[in-house]
Amino acid sequence: MLEFEELSQCKLCPRECGVDRLQGKKGYCKVDGQLIVARAGLHYWEEPCISAQSGSGTVFFSGCNMGCVFCQNQKIASGKAGKYITTQRLTEIFLELQEKGAVNINLVTPTHYIYQIKIALKNAKAKGLHIPIVYNTSGYEKVESLKLLEGLIDIYLPDFKYYSSLVGKKYAKVNDYFEKASLALEEMVKQVGSPVFSEAGIMQKGVIVRHLMLPGYLQDSKNIISYLYETYGNRIYISIMNQYTPLQEQIKGFPELNRKVSKISYKKLINYASELGVENGFIQQGETALESFIPNFNNEGV
Ligand code: SF4
Repeated sequence: MLEFEELSQCKLCPRECGVDRLQGKKGYCKVDGQLIVARAGLHYWEEPCISAQSGSGTVFFSGCNMGCVFCQNQKIASGKAGKYITTQRLTEIFLELQEKGAVNINLVTPTHYIYQIKIALKNAKAKGLHIPIVYNTSGYEKVESLKLLEGLIDIYLPDFKYYSSLVGKKYAKVNDYFEKASLALEEMVKQVGSPVFSEAGIMQKGVIVRHLMLPGYLQDSKNIISYLYETYGNRIYISIMNQYTPLQEQIKGFPELNRKVSKISYKKLINYASELGVENGFIQQGETALESFIPNFNNEGV
């Protein structure tokens, strides 16, 4: 399988580590060439058009190519949680989630497993998988890697994390996040087009861009919202999130991150988006910035 062989010099994402993942080497994403999944189940805490009443069939992959210091899913992002599985088992998991009533298959942090996911999706579709497929990513993707998935993904759910390269460099050791994430987003919109919903209001196709506010970076957030709206208008949805949770162990050395996003800052950003003309958006209400909001990565459903 030529595609898998490419993992022997992995350049799947913009980090372009070039390591031999087939021989057990790990790059920036902290996982070798074998699939590791930490949880697969119905998830109810995405945007309402993704979760719906019945839940999103969410598969949490281990490892991450971003490595943000404040990561709320650090347990799996570090590649330390989860279970090794085959592509055949991944195919079964997709079908099992559909059987359980999931309204979609939600691939969380899938970037470093694109080759295996592509095969598993093709096989599952051949066996009757028919619900929409959601690609839920940090946004730090290569266009040529996304092209491998063309026709298989219905909904792209990328983060848009940093506008300033200084912020990206400080928290994720990445100099070109904006450049790469904006090219990737262009490809995502090209592949799936404008939003389409079922009669019940469940998203069937489209792009929702998520932006997680960080404490003290209102201007960076405004720059992102302005860029997204000026480029795509209401062809995409923008989800503005305030659920940032300071996790003491991880943010030592970054005292400015040791607080939640203030209600005033969040309101200012929402007002800014509204004044720009953003109509297709999601905001968070209530007490979402809690540690208990973080899923339990216990290999359930794997
Ligand atoms: S997928 Fe992992 S190993 Fe491959 S280039 Fe990206 S971070 Fe490096």
